[in-house]
Amino acid sequence: MQITQQTINEVNFQKSELIPAIVQDNLNGVILMQGFMDRAALEMTLQKGLATFFSRSKNRLWTKGETSDNFLEVVSVHTDCDKDSILVLAKPKGPTCHLGTQSCFGEAAPLLSFIGQLQTVINERKESDPTSSYTASLFAKDISRSCQKVGEEGVEVALAAMKSDKDELLNESADLIYHLSVLLIRSGCSLEEVAQVLKERHK
Ligand code: AMP
Ligand code: ZN
Ligand code: ZN
Ligand code: ZN
Repeated sequence: MQITQQTINEVNFQKSELIPAIVQDNLNGVILMQGFMDRAALEMTLQKGLATFFSRSKNRLWTKGETSDNFLEVVSVHTDCDKDSILVLAKPKGPTCHLGTQSCFGEAAPLLSFIGQLQTVINERKESDPTSSYTASLFAKDISRSCQKVGEEGVEVALAAMKSDKDELLNESADLIYHLSVLLIRSGCSLEEVAQVLKERHK
């Protein structure tokens, strides 16, 4: 269930004062870190909208990002079936691990999350020097180029499937997803919004 300042009493701190809190990237599902929260940490997390833990090494409340500015902006907080652990969905403002990686669990990420990661990379390149990357060079051209690319790649996907060429189908599908991601960004849209439409249709 979702936890708000009104429902904080639902969480069971009786069994243990410190309970595990997992932070997951709201966008791509990557598990970013795990820490411990006491009641005060959970309260502060909800109040400030920034993931805050009880640090066992610092022996005090610790808001992730307090010195690095790599805050975890809270989207929603949830507790599990028996209310003795916490899941925080968040937007990371930078690498979460103090070692400089996106996640404290290194490269471990669900495979489909890479499509979300790709969108992040595309967004980062959109204002870069056009000679620095293919993506940056696409953004320097008129949007009609991206419209054309999506059309072309769509046809190539269809032709590859007609030929039953699996390798070509996978490659053309990758091209299509890439160019579609670029076009969505250029049109002020995102893959999350597409996912939202698909999710709503499923109801
Ligand atoms: P920060 O909260 O990002 O300003 O980092 C402050 C200090 O907290 C770091 O120097 C580390 O000692 C510790 N720290 C930062 N990020 C993590 C993390 N993801 N897991 C555990 N400790 C961390
Ligand atoms: Zn549990
Ligand atoms: Zn770490
Ligand atoms: Zn292609």
